Amino acid sequence: MKIGVVGLGAIGAQVLWSLSKRAGVEVHGFESGYIGHPLAGAGGEGRLFRNLELTTMGYMPIVKRSDELWEELELTGGRQLRRKIGALLLGAPTDAQIEHALQAAREWDLEHETYGIEEMRDLFPQFSMADGDVGIWDTGAGVISPERSISVAVEQAVRAGATAREFTPVTAVDERADGVTLRLESGESLNVDRVLVACGGWTTKLVPELRDWIVTRRLTSAWFSGKDDSSLRGLPPFMRVAPSYCYGIPNADEKLVKLGLGFNDHLPTGDPDSVPRKFGHKEAQAEIEKFSWILRDLLPALDPNPVRLETYIESYTRSMHEFMAVAPGRSNTVVLGGFSGHGFKLAPALGEIGADLVVDGSTKFDLGFLSAAKPVFSITDVNSGITTHNSVVASTGGEK
Ligand SMILES: Cc1cc2nc3c(=O)[nH]c(=O)nc-3n(C[C@H](O)[C@H](O)[C@H](O)COP(=O)(O)OP(=O)(O)OC[C@H]3O[C@@H](n4cnc5c(N)ncnc54)[C@H](O)[C@@H]3O)c2cc1C
Repeated sequence: MKIGVVGLGAIGAQVLWSLSKRAGVEVHGFESGYIGHPLAGAGGEGRLFRNLELTTMGYMPIVKRSDELWEELELTGGRQLRRKIGALLLGAPTDAQIEHALQAAREWDLEHETYGIEEMRDLFPQFSMADGDVGIWDTGAGVISPERSISVAVEQAVRAGATAREFTPVTAVDERADGVTLRLESGESLNVDRVLVACGGWTTKLVPELRDWIVTRRLTSAWFSGKDDSSLRGLPPFMRVAPSYCYGIPNADEKLVKLGLGFNDHLPTGDPDSVPRKFGHKEAQAEIEKFSWILRDLLPALDPNPVRLETYIESYTRSMHEFMAVAPGRSNTVVLGGFSGHGFKLAPALGEIGADLVVDGSTKFDLGFLSAAKPVFSITDVNSGITTHNSVVASTGGEK
């Protein structure tokens, strides 16, 4: 069977790797940029890996399988892809996501610690915590190197016989009665039996049938240094789920921390190719302002202005649960998209699921929870990507 994989980012690279291990499959990957580039959903040197699932237990088998496959990829690729240094989950004890995390820890027997406010103030003095906050230490969590993990997955796939063409945008995915024709920007075309589209924020450009379900946003990451050289010493990777959402990933040298916000603070766009990716002063000021509540309320040891601001592109479904299925109205086009800000840690297992779906038409993983998930926002305008408010990962300080 001849299969095309369009998009070799976080997910497509893993699909390529998984397909390359299957007997009887000839796999061809296509990527608009270079392998491991930072202009889409990957980049910024760090992605959180968590074991403690925050929304639905349906993800837990996928988390477990990903953990195994990250190790396999590190071993076969001969390079470190994750720093398993643990991570801190912060929130109010009554928050549903904190309850889910504790449920995951119990049901899956995951190594963790729970901290009350006094212990947290002792252990993590960098944070200014609110009375009543609780912390859950996810011992097996850590930080993935996004660029390197994509490069290593593609490298291993190619070693196993896959082809991977960089700087090769696919401009159309046309279904035929007996397969699919991939049209390349160069004017070439390639006939395959089936295709898997994993184009992140570009998904609906190739599969417009999903425009009422998947939207694209531009995300800003901001790197801050401490007020002095030791301010960030011992600061762990963290995610704060309530009362308002944010996360932080310290650099390995503990001199900078990268902060990120939630859905409502990201810029909607109908076209990731034309959305501005560099800030003028006014826009930089507006973006920095969005992070100010974190410095004021949670991490007062940070310098007020970031040393680095970068933008990335991510796709979100209306349920905040990814779409992984044959595209509506098509037969041979499988889409993996809408990873809604949480796809990286799961990427190796999602790659395996994608390979199952495109080769066998089904997977041993139970994905019923994805289709059962209810929308949490509406798309007001598909052309601009503007949506209604999303309360699932609300991060604006004003919402507290
Ligand atoms: C700032 C930020 C922080 C995040 N933090 C975390 C985290 O801590 N933990 C976590 O688990 N997840 C995190 N995520 C989410 C995770 O990074 C994404 O879910 C994941 O990258 C999505 O993978 P993807 O393959 O769908 O898209 P991408 O990684 O964007 O890959 C899509 C690829 O398709 C290529 N492409 C697009 N169109 C075409 C075309 N026509 N032809 C050929 N190639 C094409 C693009 O160039 C790109 O390389 C974060 C995301 C962002 C943006």
